[in-house]
Amino acid sequence: TQSLAQLDPEVAAAVDAELARQRDTLEMIASENFAPRAVLEAQGTVLTNKYAEGYPGRRYYGGCEHVDVIEQLAIDRAKALFGAEHANVQPHSGAQANTAVYFALLQPGDTILGLDLAHGGHLTHGMRINYSGKILNAVAYHVRESDGLIDYDEVEALAKEHQPKLIIAGWSAYPRQLDFARFREIADQTGALLMVDMAHFAGLVAAGLHPNPVPYADVVTTTTHKTLGGPRGGLILAKEELGKKINSAVFPGMQGGPLQHVIAAKAVALKVAASEEFAERQRRTLSGAKILAERLTQPDAAEAGIRVLTGGTDVHLVLVDLVNSELNGKEAEDRLHEIGITVNRNAVPNDPRPPMVTSGLRIGTPALATRGFGDADFAEVADIIAEALKPGFDAATLRSRVQALAAKHPLYPGL
Ligand code: PLP
Repeated sequence: TQSLAQLDPEVAAAVDAELARQRDTLEMIASENFAPRAVLEAQGTVLTNKYAEGYPGRRYYGGCEHVDVIEQLAIDRAKALFGAEHANVQPHSGAQANTAVYFALLQPGDTILGLDLAHGGHLTHGMRINYSGKILNAVAYHVRESDGLIDYDEVEALAKEHQPKLIIAGWSAYPRQLDFARFREIADQTGALLMVDMAHFAGLVAAGLHPNPVPYADVVTTTTHKTLGGPRGGLILAKEELGKKINSAVFPGMQGGPLQHVIAAKAVALKVAASEEFAERQRRTLSGAKILAERLTQPDAAEAGIRVLTGGTDVHLVLVDLVNSELNGKEAEDRLHEIGITVNRNAVPNDPRPPMVTSGLRIGTPALATRGFGDADFAEVADIIAEALKPGFDAATLRSRVQALAAKHPLYPGL
């Protein structure tokens, strides 16, 4: 019967401090967002108490009549939002979703072809010490050195040479849209299955601002907490004929009881993602990223050794290349942290600096768009970032400009 603050003041204090941090700083980590209050509420319900191994209507536990309603809503909304034939809403995370797909479609030792981690791929796309790279034979494709774009001719050549069972399209750090038709063509030519991991850009797809991979791919995976703006979690969409295999790979293949409180929160987020208000937010997200890219390609930035990879962006993030800057990725991240902007350093392709330092930044706009930022606010943020990355920056002035923006867009009022 005790509240969190009464029962565990230490945890409560840290949660309060985190809320204050989120309110007082500008969150520009490209993979983060602010879940709506209704999503937080759904996640904090008594659903956390319920075991529900199995799927709606076919559970291994009694008392599942209400969680069945919720999970079915989440499934139906996911299918409708993305035009998919089959949806599994149970993966605990994006990594679990990807691993379940590998479990469903591949045998240990099979070959996969994914984007190199150092070129913007994800750990689960075949990194050496990830499950995907340890259990599977992972081959990597790359972005071209000349323009930073994925080299589809290399993808095709590698697919012909290595005959992968599965080709993976999708990224954690890449500022452009993918050519799903070309990936499909390469998969068909070489007899591979195609998986698209749209974790980063799922919200843009939902809003119709990015091509939808569902018609092209055999399987599409995503997280629900990035541009999609929901609770932390994973989601798998598939062609109907793969549905059974996918379901049994998630449960009982890799997971036990599903997190029904999170599934309820996913259902709420998927409802939000079908709304006009969500589409409008995604338009501001894209527009904000373009404003940031434009500002960081101005002559004063170039003079300070700042470059924007691929020269711009079509998505919710900008990749900043600091190879020619006196600042490295770590110093740049720290400098922005000092003035109240949170980003993450990121290796650029063929990065000369070590992975803990790097020569790049990944800067995203989804969280600020959720906070209500429009073009003028993004222009101000872009200017603050450009100033901060140049020599002779004035931390105190920039910090107060950051604080003014944070105050203009209150986060979780009344929480
Ligand atoms: N896939 C991609 C493309 C990602 O960027 C990420 C997260 O960064 C994941 C999968 C993994 O998601 P999670 O952190 O929920 O396991």
